[in-house]
Amino acid sequence: MKPHDGLYIDGAWRPAAGQDLIEVVNPADEQVIGHVPAGTALDVDSAVRAARAALPIWAATPPAERSARLIALRDVLVARREEIAETVTAELGAPLAFSQTVHAGVPIAVAGSYAELAATHGFEERVGNSTVHHEPVGVVGAITPWNYPLHQIVAKVAPALAAGCTVVLKPAENTPLTAQLFAEAVHEAGLPAGVFNLVTGLGQVAGQALAEHPDVDLVSFTGSTAVGRHIGAVAGGAVKRVALELGGKSANVILPSADLAKAVGVGVANVMSNSGQTCSAWTRMLVHTSQYDEAVELAAAAAAKYGDRIGPVVSARQLDRVRGYIERGVAEGARLVAGGAQPPREKGYFVSPTVFADVTPQMTIAQEEIFGPVLTVLRYEDEEDALRIANGTVYGLAGAVWAGDEAEAVAFARRMDTGQVDINGGRFNPLAPFGGYKQSGVGRELGAHGLAEYLQTKSLQF
Ligand code: NAP
Ligand code: MG
Repeated sequence: MKPHDGLYIDGAWRPAAGQDLIEVVNPADEQVIGHVPAGTALDVDSAVRAARAALPIWAATPPAERSARLIALRDVLVARREEIAETVTAELGAPLAFSQTVHAGVPIAVAGSYAELAATHGFEERVGNSTVHHEPVGVVGAITPWNYPLHQIVAKVAPALAAGCTVVLKPAENTPLTAQLFAEAVHEAGLPAGVFNLVTGLGQVAGQALAEHPDVDLVSFTGSTAVGRHIGAVAGGAVKRVALELGGKSANVILPSADLAKAVGVGVANVMSNSGQTCSAWTRMLVHTSQYDEAVELAAAAAAKYGDRIGPVVSARQLDRVRGYIERGVAEGARLVAGGAQPPREKGYFVSPTVFADVTPQMTIAQEEIFGPVLTVLRYEDEEDALRIANGTVYGLAGAVWAGDEAEAVAFARRMDTGQVDINGGRFNPLAPFGGYKQSGVGRELGAHGLAEYLQTKSLQF
């Protein structure tokens, strides 16, 4: 797609108040592929005003009509699927096939799910002598990261629109073109002016202004725990609603009765996909001491097989960060069995699929979110030990349990302090609530639970 030189505010592309631009770089070859405006507090204010002005009519639009607009939006995303995939590949670096199936495919499914929920959700219920109305929270400030650029946008905007809220989006500075494409899709789908607005810009400028804006009712943020903590404090100070989808350091627990080869193979694929830039990735593999050596060998072989097939990480900064963690792992005494900090190519921000063995739970690489294609393999002595290790980080976003018997895996999963667990390789479900325990966040996205984040109740007594 061709980059816009404006911001999408009140139904049209308008010039930004200032002159600053953001350079968009293809991480696979380091070429500059475009520029977008770096919006400022003035632009955020215009966008919030537009969203506020559009709110009463959109909030009062019957849910069936909101659903019809979301179906139209979904249909535009379907029609432009190939362009979405190409745009994500150009600015994020993901291999095209992965962009087609995941980066384009998942948001289409999520948009469709909210079209249906808008039509079927009970926005009114009877409780004894009361009628409870589920009303939109109001103007939403959405701040999204680059790792799944369109999914993160749709997972906020679709439920917000289904609920009757209006939105101002500040997407990640690394992936603004996908956000512009989404704004084009909203326009084509015929959503009324001001219902959705896009301000591209830097987090510390446009993002900060959006989180602080007094006329924003709910801030929905996905990104790092450090920025999330700051946004939570800003929102708390203003007593506004806040939803935080933050980092993770999820455990893939392989119980001794599991199919080891399958559990290791799926576990490695889970970490390497999207070059490890997935907040819910199972970056800690937990293996019983009796199977440890075999699992390490399997994991190293699986990672080596990936070789050149994974994409780069998103930016030079991210490359430095990931390489820094790999060096730290070596320095702290973990054993590299695949990959390493050496760049595998001259051009592009590539990291070799990396596996560390002999990782202990206290090591930095077992505690902090690396956000790169780096797997750590840890050893446990018995089930209680496995549980202690699995629950032994500040995070609790996702995880996996493998066992010969489903009930055994479920029993273990129920004791994990985490928001999602895949049992024996269970598939992603776009209707299941997604979100964190502990410092992985506040609130849930996707499905009916995701819709509820954008609603507030009003009780009428009779
Ligand atoms: P980030 O800095 O937390 O950014 C997320 C979003 O917040 C971006 O749109 C960012 O803008 C914006 N932002 C940054 N500072 C802000 C502020 N003071 N006020 C308001 N908004 C602000 O995350 P990142 O830079 O994309 O990646 C850093 C690390 O975060 C990664 O290495 C990874 O560990 C983690 N991460 C987690 C997830 C997840 O889904 N949980 C996703 C992505 C990254 P800019 O784009 O301009 O920075
Ligand atoms: Mg940042």
